[in-house]
Amino acid sequence: MNKIRKQFPILTRESKLIYFDNGATTLKPKSVIEAEEYYLKTISANPHTNDYQIAYQANEIIAQTRQQTAKFINAASCQEIVFTSGTTFAINQIAQGIKKILKPGDEILTTSLEHSANLLPWIVVAKQVQAKVKTLELNSDGGINLEALKQKITLQTKIVTFAHVSNTFGYENNVLEISKVIRKINPNVIIVVDAAQSVAHTEIDVQKWDIDFLAFSAHKMYGPFGLGILWGKMALLDQLEPLLYGGGMSLTIDENLEDYYLATTPEKFEGGTPNISAIYAFQKSLDFIESISIKEIKSYEKMLKHYFIDQVKQANLQAKIDFYNLDSLSPIVILNVKGINPQDIATFLDLKYHIAARSGSHCARRTVDLINTKVSLRISFAVYNTVEEIDVLIEALKHTDEFLD
Ligand code: PLP
Repeated sequence: MNKIRKQFPILTRESKLIYFDNGATTLKPKSVIEAEEYYLKTISANPHTNDYQIAYQANEIIAQTRQQTAKFINAASCQEIVFTSGTTFAINQIAQGIKKILKPGDEILTTSLEHSANLLPWIVVAKQVQAKVKTLELNSDGGINLEALKQKITLQTKIVTFAHVSNTFGYENNVLEISKVIRKINPNVIIVVDAAQSVAHTEIDVQKWDIDFLAFSAHKMYGPFGLGILWGKMALLDQLEPLLYGGGMSLTIDENLEDYYLATTPEKFEGGTPNISAIYAFQKSLDFIESISIKEIKSYEKMLKHYFIDQVKQANLQAKIDFYNLDSLSPIVILNVKGINPQDIATFLDLKYHIAARSGSHCARRTVDLINTKVSLRISFAVYNTVEEIDVLIEALKHTDEFLD
């Protein structure tokens, strides 16, 4: 464990930090930080040319990162990897890009646990084309109810979109089972998966799952900010309209300024200068994850969650704290200390115990439909967290009454 923690400069600094807000963003290892710096110091070119060596290197980096990312999620081709600014941009790109195939009365199915990034783009596009957004029934653990899903899929269903792992309930949906159910009833449904919370914690296999689009952010996988990935099946990406128009994606513009020809996929979605230093650094975050392996990360984080649950039970914390998802083994916990606002608890944890945890709605504003409260405190673990840190958290949770003194 020490070997992993030592790679994170922020964890080895003098002032203490127990970082439990990994659902918001993960910390960055030295290799990622140094890679961004290396790019800026020694290459620094804009990749939209190949006319000199450093620019050529920049283009090579983009090709290599596409390749490595494709392998990571088992995409059929690196040309299916589109670089965006984040999950949010990627999902907006899918929703707006697909608009032309939507008709009034079409249905977009999603869940009430979605992050706003996977809810608002669909509400907006549905309003634009007079389609309807409908929610799927969930089990009490937050997973999609397969029997109810069967009833909801009809010939009107155009899109089903859901988080692989919700950023509040943390339940890991079985994407393969869900896609099988959907395909059996209506093979033409476009299946979109938001993998922002899962890609650094559990296995992804877009080909095995037989889905159509996947979106995730580098910064939630020990990687740089300002970089997201949109993966899509090639045939669908080819049909999608770009959201951004500009340099790097146009091939010709006719003299009457009436017509234009665009680059092919993936470049047609990457108008403007890309976040090239982040694209380079992202290679190092994938290397970091692969150096441990997703399988190991998953089992370690499960152990942390088990340990947390055991300690909660031993300390009888359930008497004074509402836990909403203790049954799920994913590395996310949401809770409310009875009678105290979660923002106050977050401040207490920070000031007294140097614990960084998140309060609020977690940008999943309809979670309230399941837990009957708009706000909660979220603790989310990552591979560098330890049982000793959980001990401090448990100690802190035992003493939340001090907050009222
Ligand atoms: N989807 C989920 C499930 C998330 O947890 C988040 C971020 O918290 C997002 C989408 C949005 O990611 P980003 O802000 O990196 O675009």
